[in-house]
Amino acid sequence: MSVLVLLEQRGRLRKCAFEAAVAARDIARAAGLPLNAVYIGASLADETAELAGLGIARVYAYENETLRHYSNDAHVGIVEGLVRELGAQVVIGSASALGKELCASVAARLDVDLVQDCVSCAWDNGLTAVKPLYAGKVLSTVRLTGTPAMISLRPNVVSVARDDSPAPEIERRPMPEVTLRSVIKAVTEAAAGVVELTEAKVVVSGGRGLGGPEGWPVLKELCAVLGAALGASRAAVDSGWIHHSHQVGQTGKVVCPDVYIACGISGAIQHQAGMRPAKIIVAINKDPSAPIFKVCDYGIVGDLYEIVPLLTQELKQTLV
Ligand SMILES: Cc1cc2nc3c(=O)[nH]c(=O)nc-3n(C[C@H](O)[C@H](O)[C@H](O)COP(=O)(O)OP(=O)(O)OC[C@H]3O[C@@H](n4cnc5c(N)ncnc54)[C@H](O)[C@@H]3O)c2cc1C
Repeated sequence: MSVLVLLEQRGRLRKCAFEAAVAARDIARAAGLPLNAVYIGASLADETAELAGLGIARVYAYENETLRHYSNDAHVGIVEGLVRELGAQVVIGSASALGKELCASVAARLDVDLVQDCVSCAWDNGLTAVKPLYAGKVLSTVRLTGTPAMISLRPNVVSVARDDSPAPEIERRPMPEVTLRSVIKAVTEAAAGVVELTEAKVVVSGGRGLGGPEGWPVLKELCAVLGAALGASRAAVDSGWIHHSHQVGQTGKVVCPDVYIACGISGAIQHQAGMRPAKIIVAINKDPSAPIFKVCDYGIVGDLYEIVPLLTQELKQTLV
């Protein structure tokens, strides 16, 4: 019996993979079970040192060029087979787009319960997980009674606190024979230089204060200088100014950057739910009584259309 964590990669191990591993480590320790991991990708070769401090005993590495990109046919069979082989009692993946599909497919094959998009989990003679429901209005605590108990964990809800546990053993395994009904030849990024929101070190977000979609180029220029990802409030998303994939908050993404710059965002509690893990919060808002000023580290009262271009200009001279 063991706990199994699914290490997601996109070329390199993703941040959400380390977060899932930390959550799985804590569950494994509380349950008195060993923690194993599965890696499916082109090659784990130069990343094994990064797996130290996560309490993982062994990584089952399925490495093959064909596995560089996600393939439901290959990935699901591998994870299902490993769960059965190891008699895993708990399986933890990431609630990314890929992770949610993989976990759902594996749970269906194993005919077990799965709780997706959890914000925390704990061990109390069994696995319990907390999952937001009804667009975040309710937090439900779910107790999983089947075996294996499966959950996927929302990115950025766990901080990657390493301990002194050694790097895991790597058990390299050949890719199982499987008929791939489709093969991904290449993945084209949406646009060159676009930074993934949940993994960005700097996030610049815009809200209703932009007044319309014409405000994005102003923020994108600041993003370009800082190498930042572009976020948005729900008000901006609901107004149709930007795609939902940019939404930060309770019903959007949780971000964990070093710096979060909120432009024309009032700081509603539901927005804060997505940006509170940020190390430094900067707010630009023309209303000095906006709630965002209560949670920010640096606040600038003023019109974002005056402040942001000045900031961009200044940073261009300093950084470029
Ligand atoms: C169940 C539920 C889930 C939700 N989930 C989310 C979520 O995931 N994410 C989220 O963001 N919201 C969420 N919301 C909505 C949330 O309650 C707020 O309505 C929303 O965050 C407000 O967005 P905003 O700050 O852009 O707009 P507003 O609250 O309208 O604030 C706009 C701000 O811009 C300022 N401003 C205006 N013009 C300028 C200017 N030129 N320069 C500088 N400042 C200016 C104003 O002073 C104001 O403070 C949720 C709500 C519910 C009920």
